[in-house]
Amino acid sequence: PPTPESSGRRVVVAAPRGYCAGVDRAVITVEKALDHYGPPVYVRKQIVHNKHVVETLSERGAIFVEELDEVPEGALVVFSAHGVSPAVHAQAEQRGLQTIDATCPLVTKVHNEAKRFAREDKQILLIGHAGHEEVEGTSGEAPEHITLVQSPEDVDDLELENPDNVAWLSQTTLSVDETMQTVHRLREKFPLLQDPPSDDICYATSNRQAAVKQIAAHSDLVIVVGSANSSNSVRLVEVALEAGAKAAHRVDNAGEVDEAWLNGVESVGVTSGASVPDDLVQGVLDLLVDRGFPAATEERLTEENLVFALPPELRKRLRTGA
Ligand code: SF4
Repeated sequence: PPTPESSGRRVVVAAPRGYCAGVDRAVITVEKALDHYGPPVYVRKQIVHNKHVVETLSERGAIFVEELDEVPEGALVVFSAHGVSPAVHAQAEQRGLQTIDATCPLVTKVHNEAKRFAREDKQILLIGHAGHEEVEGTSGEAPEHITLVQSPEDVDDLELENPDNVAWLSQTTLSVDETMQTVHRLREKFPLLQDPPSDDICYATSNRQAAVKQIAAHSDLVIVVGSANSSNSVRLVEVALEAGAKAAHRVDNAGEVDEAWLNGVESVGVTSGASVPDDLVQGVLDLLVDRGFPAATEERLTEENLVFALPPELRKRLRTGA
């Protein structure tokens, strides 16, 4: 049989991939809360959209709930990285819950933009996916001002009361290219459309998409590690296909790789979403070696050095032992 070297097979793993600064901070927040207070620590919604992370923290004593009425009065609850609406903060206060807010600072930035545009009485077109927690949180900042736009096709049906006083914002984890198409269509329809003060799609989302694009064009198969409810992971599959990968699939871990995908495949690209621990990627790379592929080489597009400080209310508790 041909050796991996002689067969022309190759595996390229994209970088940046995996954990972003917001996910890292949110996961450490729950870990530190568990260390400091002991279990149980309640978490509203999945702290980050990754099955493996949620399972690991559950084993350590985190209790994930959908809504605050599942949290006992007076207990400690962590808000997830995707952000919450003001109504959720109010409900926590009403119920006397102690809260730690692990909302990513880059999501908070979008909340602040929404509040400012609403103060200026602008109509806000929020580009994002209905039902996603981040969209629910951001919309909750100014429900009367915000209209959701899910795709470029949605633009045609939009009717606004005051089309001259309109701005757009977006979810942080969308496809950069599709969002630009949506904005283009919006601007054709509403020429006075105002941009957000800075990009809402975050650095981690754009870097992971740019990095997968670079490897996709030379890949027979792209494997994206990430959970089904992870918006940025699902986008990576779409971006890989658009950038020329012959096939692209998302898996939660190596166990979900379908052997049939590997038939006749010479070049494999691998990457992962922003909520994915790198040992899950390593599991996929190990499986490929087992199936006769060579060890992966990494193609790094750019370095990432961003680190966020832990939520101030947690730092204070750790400092004062409260
Ligand atoms: Fe923050 Fe972006 Fe990571 Fe979401 S993907 S947690 S916005 S850094």
